[in-house]
Amino acid sequence: MTQLNETPQSIFSLYPDEISQQINDTWKLPKFRVKQLLEWIFTHRQHELAQMSNLPKSLKASLSEAYDWSLPEIVSKLDGSDGATKLLLRGAKKQIFEAVILRYEGRTSLCVSSQVGCKLACSFCQTGKLGFFRNLRTEEIVGQFLLANKILEPEDRKITHIVFMGMGEPLDNYEQVVKAVNLFTRAGSYGLSARRVTVSTSGITPKIALLAEQARASLAVSLHASRDDLRSELMPINRRFPLAVLKEQLLAYQEKTGEKITIEYILIRNKNCGIREAKELVKFLHGLKAKVNLIPFNAHPGMDYDRPEEADILAFQQHLSRRGYPAPVRYSKGLGVSAACGQLAAKHQQNLGDAPKRKSVVNQDF
Ligand code: SAH
Ligand code: SF4
Repeated sequence: MTQLNETPQSIFSLYPDEISQQINDTWKLPKFRVKQLLEWIFTHRQHELAQMSNLPKSLKASLSEAYDWSLPEIVSKLDGSDGATKLLLRGAKKQIFEAVILRYEGRTSLCVSSQVGCKLACSFCQTGKLGFFRNLRTEEIVGQFLLANKILEPEDRKITHIVFMGMGEPLDNYEQVVKAVNLFTRAGSYGLSARRVTVSTSGITPKIALLAEQARASLAVSLHASRDDLRSELMPINRRFPLAVLKEQLLAYQEKTGEKITIEYILIRNKNCGIREAKELVKFLHGLKAKVNLIPFNAHPGMDYDRPEEADILAFQQHLSRRGYPAPVRYSKGLGVSAACGQLAAKHQQNLGDAPKRKSVVNQDF
Protein backbone atom coordinates (compact mmCIF):
# COMPACT_ATOMS: atom_id res chain seq x y z
CA MET A 1 0.00 0.00 0.00
CA THR A 2 1.11 3.57 -0.60
CA GLN A 3 2.73 5.37 2.29
CA LEU A 4 0.33 7.94 3.79
CA ASN A 5 2.64 10.32 5.58
CA GLU A 6 6.37 10.80 5.49
CA THR A 7 6.65 11.32 9.21
CA PRO A 8 3.74 9.46 10.70
CA GLN A 9 1.24 11.73 12.41
CA SER A 10 -0.32 10.59 15.64
CA ILE A 11 -3.63 8.91 14.85
CA PHE A 12 -4.89 10.37 18.15
CA SER A 13 -4.39 13.94 17.00
CA LEU A 14 -6.79 13.63 14.08
CA TYR A 15 -10.51 14.20 13.65
CA PRO A 16 -12.47 11.23 12.24
CA ASP A 17 -13.03 13.05 8.94
CA GLU A 18 -9.29 13.75 8.65
CA ILE A 19 -8.56 10.05 9.13
CA SER A 20 -11.16 8.90 6.64
CA GLN A 21 -10.15 11.46 4.08
CA GLN A 22 -6.47 10.59 4.31
CA ILE A 23 -7.20 6.89 4.03
CA ASN A 24 -9.70 7.25 1.20
CA ASP A 25 -7.40 9.53 -0.77
CA THR A 26 -4.51 7.10 -0.62
CA TRP A 27 -5.77 3.60 -0.16
CA LYS A 28 -9.25 3.32 -1.71
CA LEU A 29 -10.59 1.01 0.99
CA PRO A 30 -14.22 -0.10 1.17
CA LYS A 31 -16.20 2.42 3.23
CA PHE A 32 -17.12 -0.05 5.95
CA ARG A 33 -13.47 -0.66 6.78
CA VAL A 34 -12.85 2.97 7.60
CA LYS A 35 -16.05 2.97 9.61
CA GLN A 36 -14.83 -0.04 11.59
CA LEU A 37 -11.53 1.66 12.33
CA LEU A 38 -13.24 4.86 13.49
CA GLU A 39 -15.60 2.87 15.70
CA TRP A 40 -12.69 1.17 17.41
CA ILE A 41 -11.00 4.43 18.20
CA PHE A 42 -13.87 6.77 18.94
CA THR A 43 -16.68 4.50 20.17
CA HIS A 44 -14.70 1.79 21.92
CA ARG A 45 -11.85 4.13 22.89
CA GLN A 46 -9.45 1.41 21.82
CA HIS A 47 -5.90 2.53 21.20
CA GLU A 48 -4.27 -0.81 20.39
CA LEU A 49 -4.39 -1.92 16.78
CA ALA A 50 -3.85 -5.52 17.85
CA GLN A 51 -7.21 -5.45 19.66
CA MET A 52 -9.16 -4.32 16.59
CA SER A 53 -10.35 -7.82 15.86
CA ASN A 54 -12.41 -7.27 12.71
CA LEU A 55 -9.68 -5.47 10.73
CA PRO A 56 -7.59 -7.59 8.35
CA LYS A 57 -3.96 -8.16 9.27
CA SER A 58 -2.65 -6.42 6.17
CA LEU A 59 -4.65 -3.28 6.93
CA LYS A 60 -3.40 -3.25 10.52
CA ALA A 61 0.16 -3.49 9.24
CA SER A 62 -0.36 -0.54 6.89
CA LEU A 63 -2.05 1.51 9.58
CA SER A 64 0.72 0.79 11.98
CA GLU A 65 3.26 2.13 9.49
CA ALA A 66 1.21 5.08 8.34
CA TYR A 67 0.42 6.52 11.77
CA ASP A 68 2.06 6.95 15.11
CA TRP A 69 -0.01 4.94 17.60
CA SER A 70 2.08 5.58 20.67
CA LEU A 71 0.56 6.98 23.84
CA PRO A 72 2.28 8.41 26.89
CA GLU A 73 4.00 5.80 28.99
CA ILE A 74 2.58 5.17 32.46
CA VAL A 75 5.54 5.71 34.78
CA SER A 76 3.49 4.97 37.86
CA LYS A 77 -0.06 4.65 39.08
CA LEU A 78 -1.03 5.61 42.61
CA ASP A 79 -4.40 4.59 44.04
CA GLY A 80 -5.86 6.74 46.81
CA SER A 81 -8.31 5.47 49.39
CA ASP A 82 -11.01 7.89 48.23
CA GLY A 83 -11.49 6.71 44.66
CA ALA A 84 -8.73 8.83 43.13
CA THR A 85 -5.99 7.34 40.99
CA LYS A 86 -3.04 9.45 39.97
CA LEU A 87 -1.13 8.59 36.82
CA LEU A 88 2.41 9.79 36.28
CA LEU A 89 3.02 9.90 32.56
CA ARG A 90 5.90 10.41 30.19
CA GLY A 91 5.16 11.60 26.69
CA ALA A 92 7.28 12.64 23.74
CA LYS A 93 9.94 14.13 26.00
CA LYS A 94 11.47 13.01 29.26
CA GLN A 95 9.46 15.24 31.56
CA ILE A 96 6.69 13.75 33.61
CA PHE A 97 3.12 15.03 33.76
CA GLU A 98 0.05 13.85 35.58
CA ALA A 99 -3.57 12.89 35.12
CA VAL A 100 -6.01 12.01 37.88
CA ILE A 101 -9.02 9.68 37.71
CA LEU A 102 -11.75 10.63 40.17
CA ARG A 103 -14.42 8.00 40.82
CA TYR A 104 -17.82 9.12 42.05
CA GLU A 105 -21.12 7.31 42.18
CA GLY A 106 -22.60 7.44 38.72
CA ARG A 107 -19.77 9.35 37.10
CA THR A 108 -16.03 9.19 36.59
CA SER A 109 -13.99 12.32 35.97
CA LEU A 110 -10.57 12.73 34.55
CA CYS A 111 -8.44 15.71 35.46
CA VAL A 112 -6.08 16.25 32.53
CA SER A 113 -2.88 18.24 32.19
CA SER A 114 -2.38 20.62 29.29
CA GLN A 115 1.26 21.60 29.92
CA VAL A 116 4.24 20.34 31.86
CA GLY A 117 4.54 23.05 34.49
CA CYS A 118 2.97 26.47 34.02
CA LYS A 119 4.22 29.99 33.21
CA LEU A 120 1.69 31.80 35.32
CA ALA A 121 3.25 31.36 38.75
CA CYS A 122 0.16 31.65 40.94
CA SER A 123 1.49 31.97 44.46
CA PHE A 124 -0.60 29.11 45.95
CA CYS A 125 -0.05 26.51 43.22
CA GLN A 126 2.47 23.68 43.18
CA THR A 127 2.50 23.47 39.40
CA GLY A 128 3.12 27.20 39.25
CA LYS A 129 6.15 26.74 41.49
CA LEU A 130 7.71 24.37 38.96
CA GLY A 131 7.99 26.92 36.19
CA PHE A 132 7.23 26.02 32.60
CA PHE A 133 8.69 23.11 30.63
CA ARG A 134 6.55 22.56 27.57
CA ASN A 135 3.13 22.38 26.01
CA LEU A 136 1.50 18.99 25.70
CA ARG A 137 0.46 17.93 22.22
CA THR A 138 -3.14 17.10 21.35
CA GLU A 139 -2.37 13.39 21.30
CA GLU A 140 -0.76 13.60 24.73
CA ILE A 141 -3.94 15.18 26.09
CA VAL A 142 -6.22 12.68 24.31
CA GLY A 143 -3.77 9.97 25.39
CA GLN A 144 -4.50 10.71 29.07
CA PHE A 145 -8.16 9.98 28.34
CA LEU A 146 -7.50 6.76 26.40
CA LEU A 147 -5.14 5.41 29.06
CA ALA A 148 -7.59 6.23 31.85
CA ASN A 149 -10.39 4.44 30.01
CA LYS A 150 -8.15 1.40 29.60
CA ILE A 151 -7.40 1.36 33.34
CA LEU A 152 -11.11 1.58 34.12
CA GLU A 153 -12.15 -1.25 31.77
CA PRO A 154 -11.99 -4.03 34.40
CA GLU A 155 -14.20 -1.94 36.70
CA ASP A 156 -16.78 -1.52 33.95
CA ARG A 157 -16.39 2.24 34.14
CA LYS A 158 -15.68 4.83 31.49
CA ILE A 159 -14.58 8.42 31.79
CA THR A 160 -17.77 10.50 31.70
CA HIS A 161 -16.35 13.95 32.52
CA ILE A 162 -13.10 15.71 31.69
CA VAL A 163 -11.73 18.74 33.51
CA PHE A 164 -8.66 20.65 32.35
CA MET A 165 -7.53 21.20 35.93
CA GLY A 166 -4.30 19.26 35.96
CA MET A 167 -0.91 20.79 35.30
CA GLY A 168 -0.78 23.90 33.19
CA GLU A 169 -2.91 26.70 31.83
CA PRO A 170 -5.02 25.28 28.98
CA LEU A 171 -5.53 28.61 27.23
CA ASP A 172 -1.77 29.12 27.11
CA ASN A 173 -1.60 26.01 24.91
CA TYR A 174 -4.58 27.08 22.91
CA GLU A 175 -4.31 25.25 19.55
CA GLN A 176 -3.50 21.85 20.99
CA VAL A 177 -6.12 22.16 23.71
CA VAL A 178 -8.89 23.27 21.36
CA LYS A 179 -8.28 20.32 19.11
CA ALA A 180 -8.36 17.96 22.09
CA VAL A 181 -11.59 19.57 23.33
CA ASN A 182 -13.15 19.21 19.90
CA LEU A 183 -12.07 15.59 19.73
CA PHE A 184 -13.74 15.02 23.09
CA THR A 185 -16.99 16.80 22.33
CA ARG A 186 -17.72 16.60 18.62
CA ALA A 187 -20.35 14.15 17.42
CA GLY A 188 -18.61 11.37 15.50
CA SER A 189 -15.48 11.54 17.65
CA TYR A 190 -15.45 10.73 21.38
CA GLY A 191 -18.84 12.42 21.64
CA LEU A 192 -18.87 13.60 25.27
CA SER A 193 -21.39 16.33 25.91
CA ALA A 194 -19.92 19.84 26.05
CA ARG A 195 -21.37 20.18 29.55
CA ARG A 196 -19.05 17.39 30.65
CA VAL A 197 -15.81 18.82 29.36
CA THR A 198 -14.61 21.79 31.39
CA VAL A 199 -11.76 24.08 30.50
CA SER A 200 -10.45 25.87 33.59
CA THR A 201 -8.53 29.08 33.06
CA SER A 202 -6.83 31.62 35.22
CA GLY A 203 -8.17 34.24 32.83
CA ILE A 204 -6.18 34.65 29.62
CA THR A 205 -8.96 36.83 28.38
CA PRO A 206 -8.29 37.09 24.60
CA LYS A 207 -8.46 33.32 24.37
CA ILE A 208 -11.80 33.09 26.19
CA ALA A 209 -13.57 34.75 23.26
CA LEU A 210 -11.76 32.51 20.76
CA LEU A 211 -12.72 29.43 22.72
CA ALA A 212 -16.38 30.40 22.54
CA GLU A 213 -16.04 30.55 18.75
CA GLN A 214 -13.97 27.47 18.12
CA ALA A 215 -15.06 24.81 20.60
CA ARG A 216 -17.97 23.62 22.66
CA ALA A 217 -17.02 23.14 26.28
CA SER A 218 -17.89 24.43 29.74
CA LEU A 219 -15.83 27.28 31.08
CA ALA A 220 -14.46 27.53 34.61
CA VAL A 221 -12.54 30.58 35.75
CA SER A 222 -10.14 30.54 38.66
CA LEU A 223 -10.93 33.82 40.34
CA HIS A 224 -9.66 33.57 43.94
CA ALA A 225 -9.96 37.30 44.58
CA SER A 226 -12.21 40.07 43.30
CA ARG A 227 -10.06 43.15 43.82
CA ASP A 228 -7.06 43.82 41.67
CA ASP A 229 -4.31 44.27 44.26
CA LEU A 230 -5.12 40.99 46.02
CA ARG A 231 -5.71 39.04 42.81
CA SER A 232 -2.43 40.29 41.35
CA GLU A 233 -0.64 39.18 44.50
CA LEU A 234 -2.10 35.67 44.20
CA MET A 235 -2.16 35.46 40.41
CA PRO A 236 0.39 37.58 38.53
CA ILE A 237 -1.62 37.12 35.31
CA ASN A 238 -4.08 39.63 36.79
CA ARG A 239 -1.57 42.42 36.12
CA ARG A 240 -1.80 41.64 32.45
CA PHE A 241 -5.56 40.95 32.34
CA PRO A 242 -7.16 42.73 35.31
CA LEU A 243 -10.60 42.02 36.73
CA ALA A 244 -12.49 44.59 34.67
CA VAL A 245 -11.17 43.06 31.44
CA LEU A 246 -11.93 39.56 32.70
CA LYS A 247 -15.49 40.49 33.62
CA GLU A 248 -16.07 42.10 30.24
CA GLN A 249 -14.89 38.94 28.50
CA LEU A 250 -17.03 36.71 30.69
CA LEU A 251 -20.11 38.76 29.91
CA ALA A 252 -19.31 38.52 26.20
CA TYR A 253 -18.76 34.77 26.53
CA GLN A 254 -22.15 34.34 28.15
CA GLU A 255 -23.82 36.51 25.57
CA LYS A 256 -22.36 34.32 22.84
CA THR A 257 -22.84 30.86 24.38
CA GLY A 258 -25.77 31.34 26.78
CA GLU A 259 -23.95 29.02 29.16
CA LYS A 260 -23.30 29.38 32.87
CA ILE A 261 -19.70 29.88 33.93
CA THR A 262 -18.17 28.17 36.94
CA ILE A 263 -16.18 30.44 39.20
CA GLU A 264 -13.56 28.67 41.26
CA TYR A 265 -12.53 30.38 44.44
CA ILE A 266 -9.84 28.94 46.70
CA LEU A 267 -10.23 29.92 50.32
CA ILE A 268 -6.90 30.86 51.91
CA ARG A 269 -6.74 31.69 55.61
CA ASN A 270 -6.44 35.41 56.40
CA LYS A 271 -6.03 36.23 52.74
CA ASN A 272 -9.12 36.16 50.56
CA CYS A 273 -12.03 34.86 52.62
CA GLY A 274 -13.15 37.56 55.02
CA ILE A 275 -16.47 39.35 54.73
CA ARG A 276 -14.77 42.17 52.81
CA GLU A 277 -13.72 39.67 50.12
CA ALA A 278 -17.15 38.01 50.13
CA LYS A 279 -18.70 41.41 49.39
CA GLU A 280 -16.20 42.01 46.60
CA LEU A 281 -17.03 38.64 45.11
CA VAL A 282 -20.76 39.38 45.14
CA LYS A 283 -20.01 42.61 43.31
CA PHE A 284 -17.92 40.79 40.71
CA LEU A 285 -20.67 38.20 40.18
CA HIS A 286 -23.30 40.85 39.51
CA GLY A 287 -24.68 40.35 36.01
CA LEU A 288 -23.00 36.99 35.48
CA LYS A 289 -24.84 33.67 35.27
CA ALA A 290 -22.29 31.86 37.33
CA LYS A 291 -22.05 29.10 39.85
CA VAL A 292 -19.34 29.38 42.46
CA ASN A 293 -17.26 26.53 43.82
CA LEU A 294 -15.43 27.24 47.05
CA ILE A 295 -12.26 25.18 47.42
CA PRO A 296 -10.50 25.22 50.78
CA PHE A 297 -6.80 25.67 50.06
CA ASN A 298 -4.84 22.41 49.90
CA ALA A 299 -1.82 22.97 52.05
CA HIS A 300 1.55 21.71 50.87
CA PRO A 301 5.04 21.96 52.26
CA GLY A 302 7.02 25.07 51.54
CA MET A 303 4.00 27.31 51.14
CA ASP A 304 3.03 29.97 53.63
CA TYR A 305 -0.70 29.64 53.15
CA ASP A 306 -3.20 27.70 55.22
CA ARG A 307 -6.73 26.45 54.97
CA PRO A 308 -9.23 28.67 56.86
CA GLU A 309 -11.17 27.62 59.96
CA GLU A 310 -14.49 25.89 59.22
CA ALA A 311 -16.39 28.82 60.79
CA ASP A 312 -14.77 31.26 58.34
CA ILE A 313 -15.57 29.00 55.39
CA LEU A 314 -19.17 28.87 56.53
CA ALA A 315 -19.43 32.63 57.04
CA PHE A 316 -18.05 33.27 53.54
CA GLN A 317 -20.42 30.74 52.04
CA GLN A 318 -23.43 32.15 53.87
CA HIS A 319 -22.67 35.67 52.76
CA LEU A 320 -22.87 34.48 49.16
CA SER A 321 -25.90 32.24 49.50
CA ARG A 322 -27.92 34.94 51.27
CA ARG A 323 -27.33 37.18 48.29
CA GLY A 324 -28.54 34.59 45.80
CA TYR A 325 -25.24 32.87 44.99
CA PRO A 326 -25.27 29.31 46.31
CA ALA A 327 -21.64 28.27 46.62
CA PRO A 328 -20.93 24.65 47.50
CA VAL A 329 -17.68 23.91 49.29
CA ARG A 330 -15.68 21.37 47.30
CA TYR A 331 -13.28 19.31 49.31
CA SER A 332 -10.72 17.90 46.90
CA LYS A 333 -10.42 14.20 46.36
CA GLY A 334 -6.99 12.77 45.86
CA LEU A 335 -5.20 14.46 48.74
CA GLY A 336 -3.74 11.14 49.89
CA VAL A 337 -1.99 10.60 46.57
CA SER A 338 -1.07 14.28 46.12
CA ALA A 339 -3.57 14.44 43.34
CA ALA A 340 -5.76 17.29 44.49
CA CYS A 341 -6.04 20.49 42.48
CA GLY A 342 -2.83 22.41 42.45
CA GLN A 343 -0.83 19.62 44.00
CA LEU A 344 0.31 18.00 40.84
CA ALA A 345 3.91 17.24 40.01
CA ALA A 346 5.77 18.66 42.93
CA LYS A 347 6.95 15.31 44.19
CA HIS A 348 8.60 14.53 40.88
CA GLN A 349 10.38 17.75 40.19
CA GLN A 350 13.67 15.94 40.26
CA ASN A 351 12.65 14.05 37.12
CA LEU A 352 11.88 17.17 35.21
CA GLY A 353 15.29 18.73 34.83
CA ASP A 354 15.79 22.47 35.20
CA ALA A 355 12.96 24.73 34.19
CA PRO A 356 13.97 27.55 31.89
CA LYS A 357 14.29 30.97 33.47
CA ARG A 358 10.89 32.55 33.89
CA LYS A 359 9.81 35.64 31.98
CA SER A 360 7.36 37.82 33.85
CA VAL A 361 3.84 36.90 32.71
CA VAL A 362 3.19 40.55 32.09
CA ASN A 363 5.54 40.32 29.10
CA GLN A 364 4.37 36.99 27.76
CA ASP A 365 2.81 36.66 24.35
CA PHE A 366 -0.66 35.19 24.73
N1 SAH B 1 -4.41 26.76 35.08
C1 SAH B 1 -5.78 26.50 35.20
C2 SAH B 1 -6.12 25.04 35.40
C3 SAH B 1 -5.23 24.25 36.29
S1 SAH B 1 -5.27 24.66 38.01
C4 SAH B 1 -6.40 27.34 36.29
O1 SAH B 1 -5.66 27.97 37.04
O2 SAH B 1 -7.62 27.40 36.34
C5 SAH B 1 -6.77 23.89 38.48
C6 SAH B 1 -7.40 24.49 39.73
O3 SAH B 1 -6.64 24.13 40.89
C7 SAH B 1 -7.47 26.00 39.68
O4 SAH B 1 -8.72 26.48 40.07
C8 SAH B 1 -6.41 26.36 40.67
O5 SAH B 1 -6.60 27.64 41.13
C9 SAH B 1 -6.59 25.25 41.71
N2 SAH B 1 -5.51 25.16 42.70
C10 SAH B 1 -4.20 25.43 42.51
N3 SAH B 1 -3.51 25.29 43.66
C11 SAH B 1 -4.41 24.93 44.61
C12 SAH B 1 -4.32 24.63 46.00
N4 SAH B 1 -3.17 24.64 46.63
N5 SAH B 1 -5.46 24.30 46.66
C13 SAH B 1 -6.64 24.25 46.02
N6 SAH B 1 -6.77 24.51 44.71
C14 SAH B 1 -5.68 24.85 44.01
FE1 SF4 C 1 -0.86 27.77 36.36
FE2 SF4 C 1 -3.42 27.31 37.10
FE3 SF4 C 1 -1.37 26.80 38.79
FE4 SF4 C 1 -1.97 29.32 38.20
S1 SF4 C 1 -3.31 27.83 39.28
S2 SF4 C 1 0.09 28.46 38.26
S3 SF4 C 1 -2.60 29.15 36.08
S4 SF4 C 1 -1.79 25.78 36.85
